[in-house]
Amino acid sequence: MITALCGGVGGAKLLNGLNLIMNNAELKAIVNVGDDFWLHNLKICPDIDSVIYKLAGVSNVTYGWGIQGDTFRTMSELEMLGGESWFKLGDLDLATHLYRSQRLIQGARLDEITKELKEKRQIKAEIYPVTNDEIATELTLKESKKTVGFQEYFVKLKHQPAVSKVIYKNTETATCLETAIKSIEKSEKIIICPSNPILSVGPIISVYPVADLLRKFKNKVIAVTPLIGGKAIKGPADHILTELRYSAGVLGVAEYYREFASTLIIDKLDADLIKDIENLGFNVKVTDTLMGNISKELKLAEFILDQD
Ligand code: GDP
Repeated sequence: MITALCGGVGGAKLLNGLNLIMNNAELKAIVNVGDDFWLHNLKICPDIDSVIYKLAGVSNVTYGWGIQGDTFRTMSELEMLGGESWFKLGDLDLATHLYRSQRLIQGARLDEITKELKEKRQIKAEIYPVTNDEIATELTLKESKKTVGFQEYFVKLKHQPAVSKVIYKNTETATCLETAIKSIEKSEKIIICPSNPILSVGPIISVYPVADLLRKFKNKVIAVTPLIGGKAIKGPADHILTELRYSAGVLGVAEYYREFASTLIIDKLDADLIKDIENLGFNVKVTDTLMGNISKELKLAEFILDQD
């Protein structure tokens, strides 16, 4: 059994490689729900949806989110009506949000609904929200000192403003999914996917008892860098780490994960940092971590599964 902690786009690429190799329920993905929010009375779970679309082979490679070939006619109409159209929901993508929201209103839990959604798309791996409770990532902006919700920072402000603090709201009272706890306990390997450490993995780790479990099973935790040559492929992972006083580049990733993981997979472009990262106590493995296509997703997944 393998458990992977992951956010959306970056995490989903590695998860896809793992799923292509394993193709069974022995692969468990614990997914971030700190980005989830309600809009138009619809519950939107961006990371869960990115994972499901990717594993189902329907993810939109152009945008990096949503469904391939989707159209935005409903959004155009909504914009014409003066409705809230800053968060783009594709016409096909909307079906997922309609389904999920209706099932929540009927009293179903988020993990049950996630299972239904992934089974409808013939995904065998298990996909768990870290919690069924509503948690929320919020960010305090350095200059204005204003605290904003994740989507306002990420989508409206295009993750540009410097951040002085990240808050994982409600994680101290949220209940971790029992199945997620069991899978961490029973797995041979726990993989922290190349997701944004602060914004995608942080909210998962902050739900009790995930941090304690990672510390306890640290010797089987392998973290994969989301930074290549010191830079994020997309998104704010690189600058948000330095804004929160971690070192620049993959060294900052290593500092963030040092209490939770024993192995860190870094990119060959960062090989000059091996010694510095080893000095933080890691077993460091170097490979090509850029997953530009499915064969590279598979290759990185194979490399990770081969580690002892
Ligand atoms: P989000 O929730 O949709 O932002 O997705 P994640 O947090 O899962 O992924 C965002 C992170 O993935 C960014 O920091 C990227 O640098 C990283 N990422 C994206 N593609 C790749 C890749 O091919 N290789 C590696 N190593 N990291 C990647």
